[in-house]
Amino acid sequence: MSHQNHPPISQKPFEVIVIGSGFAGLAAAIECKMNGGNVIVLEKMKAIGGNSIISDGGIAAPNTVEQQHLGIIDSVDLMFDDMMRSGEGLNDPHITRRVCEEALDAYTWSKEVLNVKYMSRVDIFGGHQVPRCYSPDPLSGSTMMLRMKQKCDELGIEIRFDAHVQSFIQDEHQQVIGVQLIENNITSTNSTEITELYATKGVIVASGGFAADREFLKEIIKEDFLTTNKKTTSAEVLKACMAIHAATIHLNKIQWMPWTTQDENGYGKGGLFGDYIVSSYGIVVDCKNGERFVNELGNRKQLTEAILKRKDVIGIVDESSLKRTGWKLEDVLRKGIIQSHTDLNQLARHYNIPYESLVQTIEAYNLSITLNTSDPFGKVFETWMVPLTTPPFYTMRIHPKTHYSLGGLVTDVDTHVLDIHGHIHKGLFAAGEVTGLTHGANRLGSCSVTECLVMGRVAGRKAIEN
Ligand SMILES: Cc1cc2nc3c(=O)[nH]c(=O)nc-3n(C[C@H](O)[C@H](O)[C@H](O)COP(=O)(O)OP(=O)(O)OC[C@H]3O[C@@H](n4cnc5c(N)ncnc54)[C@H](O)[C@@H]3O)c2cc1C
Repeated sequence: MSHQNHPPISQKPFEVIVIGSGFAGLAAAIECKMNGGNVIVLEKMKAIGGNSIISDGGIAAPNTVEQQHLGIIDSVDLMFDDMMRSGEGLNDPHITRRVCEEALDAYTWSKEVLNVKYMSRVDIFGGHQVPRCYSPDPLSGSTMMLRMKQKCDELGIEIRFDAHVQSFIQDEHQQVIGVQLIENNITSTNSTEITELYATKGVIVASGGFAADREFLKEIIKEDFLTTNKKTTSAEVLKACMAIHAATIHLNKIQWMPWTTQDENGYGKGGLFGDYIVSSYGIVVDCKNGERFVNELGNRKQLTEAILKRKDVIGIVDESSLKRTGWKLEDVLRKGIIQSHTDLNQLARHYNIPYESLVQTIEAYNLSITLNTSDPFGKVFETWMVPLTTPPFYTMRIHPKTHYSLGGLVTDVDTHVLDIHGHIHKGLFAAGEVTGLTHGANRLGSCSVTECLVMGRVAGRKAIEN
């Protein structure tokens, strides 16, 4: 940190500097520019996107036309209740409510301003009471990221790559007036030359989470862990904020993705299979005794805790369920991430599961679906779920991975970063995963993209109004 009143002549000041080119950063930059702001985006990597570009890009919103066509009754209040219940009340209700209230607008903005296309289906993930999640077509975060990049190009927004932000510049009143960065330094440690960039209206921190930062997490997660995140996902900008006394919260709350497998890296294709197919259409079984032990549509926290207590866990679906989803598994079957079994006997032998017990488990589950009786684990049976009777049966080993950092910077509902005394940190805004109050103890699927778009856009507007 340095204290200077005037930028060096070589560095023309911008009105707004955005750190990070994921969903939150580019939403902020686009909104800022569309409201007349002179904005630059700084990105430490050689390409846009952070975790956003490797995500599924699924976004949640209530009251959409897609829901109306399917007769799904939803509301801002229902989504808010779901997020607060899942967050165990640790979310800031004002921020969470804003995300829910502006979710539909953000979703519509992604269609109308960014021109993102979505699949016609509406998905439900654990913890949502109704289907309200929309998948971009093709299903990948890169679909929206590429549209955002196009919009930035169209608007003439500069994205400076290899620009590794190190610290903040404050004036004599502690107002943030710029950043110090090292350029071209992400892979080499040779360059240590500091560049200073100034912003007359504000700096927006959109540097993402830290769920892959082993050094930062070493006190929180003692044992080694797998992650769905890019390995470059780290806490350095968060730490730079802390160095200028920005307040943080819930840094020890890490969300794990329960649906991944140890048989591939990252979230992968297995993550999709678990998250989209096993959760809704299948069951999760403990190989030791062949029994179910959890509501497959429970929230990620409940699922992760239940799975991590057991040694070997698999997900099972059958052919007719798979057909209903329309997913093709050739690729993952070939790679051995998912296994196909001609019957339950072969399945049980493959994983050394007690056969009789497995059969009993599946028969009990099938009966509950057929008779629509209550499930001992609380799974709510929907009309699209069918009994698991049609071979081949498909299975995947399941192992949770760190997925999302729930904690982060403390902000108010207008994305101002607060300092450790609870005052607005002048000149500093934050949006996206780097912030810590939207999801509380657990994030619901598809709600991060919603948050990034809603709060990124708020940050872009607020910074330019500053
Ligand atoms: C595999 C996977 C699938 C997911 N699927 C979904 C989904 O379908 N729906 C959903 O809602 N959520 C999903 N999530 C979560 C969601 O994608 C992320 O929470 C969200 O994309 C974070 O966006 P962001 O803009 O805050 O950060 P990011 O997208 O991570 O962007 C942060 C950027 O800041 C840059 N940066 C960091 N430090 C610096 C620095 N010092 N200087 C300059 N730049 C820096 C990074 O390089 C990065 O590009 C998924 C996550 C993963 C990992």
